[in-house]
Amino acid sequence: RYFSKMEDDDISVRVAVRIRPQTLREKLDMCQVCTSVTPGEPQVTLGKDKAFTYNYVFDNDSEQEHIYESCVASLVESSLEGYNGTVLAYGQTGSGKTYTMGTGFDVELPPEQKGIIPRAIHHLFDGIKSRIERAQENGLLAPEFKVSVQFMELYNEEVIDLFNPSFAKDTKDKVYKIHEDQYGGIQVKGVTCKVIQSAEEALQCLKLGALSRTTASTQMNTQSSRSHAIFTLHVKQQRLVPSEDENVVSNEFETLSAKFHFVDLAGSERLKRTGATGERQKEGISINCGLLALGNVISALGDRTKRALHIPYRDSKLTRLLQDSLGGNSQTVMIACVSPSDSDFMETLNTLKYANRAR
Ligand code: ADP
Ligand code: MG
Repeated sequence: RYFSKMEDDDISVRVAVRIRPQTLREKLDMCQVCTSVTPGEPQVTLGKDKAFTYNYVFDNDSEQEHIYESCVASLVESSLEGYNGTVLAYGQTGSGKTYTMGTGFDVELPPEQKGIIPRAIHHLFDGIKSRIERAQENGLLAPEFKVSVQFMELYNEEVIDLFNPSFAKDTKDKVYKIHEDQYGGIQVKGVTCKVIQSAEEALQCLKLGALSRTTASTQMNTQSSRSHAIFTLHVKQQRLVPSEDENVVSNEFETLSAKFHFVDLAGSERLKRTGATGERQKEGISINCGLLALGNVISALGDRTKRALHIPYRDSKLTRLLQDSLGGNSQTVMIACVSPSDSDFMETLNTLKYANRAR
């Protein structure tokens, strides 16, 4: 029944580029804007002649709502039909990943500036409400939903539970194990899974986890720019099997189970050679390993000749954890965030190349 839908938009991985506005600092430093978007085309040109085309390109004046509606809303709709989805924000530190994703704990943010996660949460609960109401209006048994959230951080190839951040720190024997069940579903054993009843409750969880993400570490920004933050919504649904014929009411039940990951990836900047020794170097290497593996997986998924062969999920914890939500029937959007300023030219070029490989 779902096949026709999937044929319509058979692309399982879409790539968007978002250019943030210049910061005050960059303006004061007289940085020049070195990115330009071709009007009416999803194409960005860096400098004079480095042009790249993606599924979407958002220039520095684009609004949060527009980004949500163009690349995320349909994935949330699909999650209500049991499909997994993943949204990833990629880019150097300071390029707008957290702003775009809404992984911050700033509840003071005006509504129009809210990022993807809070919007998706509201969308999901509105969708649930309207499905229940629609069933009731038609005198049918209403579907039952169970929504739960997890919030993890991947740091140095290790999982941290952001709802229980002190646990597993510095204790090698408490390391969370990534486990694959007999149906190919991925679970991280022991990580807190909070059942939630409302959008407000989900937002509280987001805030709580985001707060512990910044306070858990004395290094603060260092850690958050070097770790991947993964916020996950699990949507379980029990409903009557929808029938093809409107006049026939089915009396069979089905259980749908969808997982939606929102990933604020580690900063993609190259580790500076100076000072990168010991622990720091190890961090740098393992983070690059996650981003490298992700690039390889996404590029293999996009390549029809490789798709059936081998997708290298096992090369990092990140790709292992996302395995059941990348490829297959899942829909994935990668949003590559870039700075418009010439001072970031090389990092922007690296990001555009990475995103181009993923396309
Ligand atoms: P990252 O998470 O990639 O390190 P941030 O999301 O923290 O980057 O963004 C860096 C700074 O730029 C923040 O102060 C953020 O509020 C601001 N910023 C990023 N993107 C935008 C945008 N599209 N519009 C306005 N401000 C933005
Ligand atoms: Mg950030």
